[in-house]
Amino acid sequence: MEEKFKSVSIYDLYERFPNRESCLAFLAKKKWELGFKCKHCGHNHYCSGGKPYIRQCTKCRYKESATANTLFHKVKFDLVKAFAIVYFIATNKKGMSSCELSRSLQLRQKTCWLFRLKVLTAMESHQNVGLSGKVEISDFEIGMKKVMENGQEVRYKKRVVMALEKKGKGVSHLYANEVESRGADQIDDFVDRVVNEGALISCYKWHGYNHVCKNYQVIKRIKKSKTSFMPLSNRLENSIISWLRGIHHHAELLQYYLDEFCYRFNRNQMKEEIYDHLLIRMVFHRPRTYQDIIG
Ligand SMILES: [Zn+2]
Repeated sequence: MEEKFKSVSIYDLYERFPNRESCLAFLAKKKWELGFKCKHCGHNHYCSGGKPYIRQCTKCRYKESATANTLFHKVKFDLVKAFAIVYFIATNKKGMSSCELSRSLQLRQKTCWLFRLKVLTAMESHQNVGLSGKVEISDFEIGMKKVMENGQEVRYKKRVVMALEKKGKGVSHLYANEVESRGADQIDDFVDRVVNEGALISCYKWHGYNHVCKNYQVIKRIKKSKTSFMPLSNRLENSIISWLRGIHHHAELLQYYLDEFCYRFNRNQMKEEIYDHLLIRMVFHRPRTYQDIIG
């Protein structure tokens, strides 16, 4: 972990963003890099909004701050700490739980939990890199335990469909989606979205993949058992499950966590750029409230 990200450290982070002003300067620079456009009326001219990093539309007088309409919208705690949360999530190989963030930054756990989900929103997969060449498609179940308010332990299961592109002996790109059941429809939709025509597919022998087999060139179908499986897919399935159990301890809001896993996995060659990449995604993502996320 340290090797991959050794070029950026927490000291560099605090040197780069030592105070609220430096964070706002970064957000303003990125947000308006290509020019100003009023969110209210679309006008392109502005004057100062009376405070640093606030711009006012010269037509409708609407004032907009550097954080407005981004995922930093109405952040109620120190912006330097918000930037630090993005840093920890982007650069730790396994991310960081809200409890660890709370301890490291001396913030309330609930504050970290919510802001962490906003950061994960920015990690959502755009699925715009279609997988090609040799592609494996598989699905698997995640079993979790949940302690209810009355102390009773409840077990539940979630299902995931996953597609990976092979490169040499490894994996160059990965996508994973939560699916409601082993319903073939959801698998078809997912495969159509993430796999390019002409890809050479390997998948398991199960009727849910029959449609995929009709539309794509399938080079291998394996009957899945304890001793017979696709090793790369199997390894990643196990990584996802053990990471979920180790860091998140549950699989609720599963799609956020799958996006988080894939985001870092697909950018494992990036060093300090991954931090800027994530900050910029947060600038250009519409704001999310607690209700948006839970709803
Ligand atoms: Zn305006």
